[in-house]
Amino acid sequence: MNTRRRLVAANWKMNGSLATLGAWANALRGSYDSKAWAGAVEVWLAPAFPLIAPARGALLGLPVRVAAQNCHEADRGAFTGEVSLSMLRDCGAEGVIVGHSERRHIFGESDQRIAKKLSAVLEAGLPTILCVGETEPERDAGQTNRVLETQLRNGLGDTSAAAVQQVVIAYEPVWAIGTGRVATPDQVAEAHSFLRSIAAATMGPELAGRCRLLYGGSVDGKNAPALADLPDVDGFLVGGASLDSGSFRQIIDAAGGAR
Ligand code: PEP
Repeated sequence: MNTRRRLVAANWKMNGSLATLGAWANALRGSYDSKAWAGAVEVWLAPAFPLIAPARGALLGLPVRVAAQNCHEADRGAFTGEVSLSMLRDCGAEGVIVGHSERRHIFGESDQRIAKKLSAVLEAGLPTILCVGETEPERDAGQTNRVLETQLRNGLGDTSAAAVQQVVIAYEPVWAIGTGRVATPDQVAEAHSFLRSIAAATMGPELAGRCRLLYGGSVDGKNAPALADLPDVDGFLVGGASLDSGSFRQIIDAAGGAR
């Protein structure tokens, strides 16, 4: 038994609208039960940038942290199309996801760029979810641990012991994201145990023991309970299934009930 509080984060990617946000928040509010959820599970919603401020209003009174899916590391300047952390904070963001595989593989973000973003988020005083994960060819080539170690070590950079406590790590195998091919409990257990050992080597065993490790990749209401039961799984980062409030609620319940 550990004391790590479960975390379930919804990553809406480039989906959602004011109308769907309102309906989602209302449905979640309707099913909200403070005993079953608030104590056991921390919940985040990371919508697209324009929905961050409206989400704060729509979710008023519910214990849901509104987060951003990305940020720029600079505070201001000539970076057309980018959004800074002070802007995100201004809109009500209370956390940021960095290093999502779509940022890495579609937008070409390097480990070094991700480290800069992570450091800027922590400097802004916000918690962050750092995503790491191997591609299918990397897994097939037996490179999974090497990729995870490199992404984690490089992503954390020289983050101080005080700041690293604001970092949540999400293991998201790229081949499982949005594909319906969820990783098996054995694969998740192995990767999470390895990630915790690398966290212990970088931040020390005490902080690593407190660091939350999320799994992400085709999680839904059906597969979440078995994964939530694994000792090193502290919650989920959820894409597709988070768009449906009923499925998302099932995942919250699975995360809260399994330990
Ligand atoms: C994600 O985008 O982080 C993710 C895990 O997506 P999905 O749940 O759709 O696989």
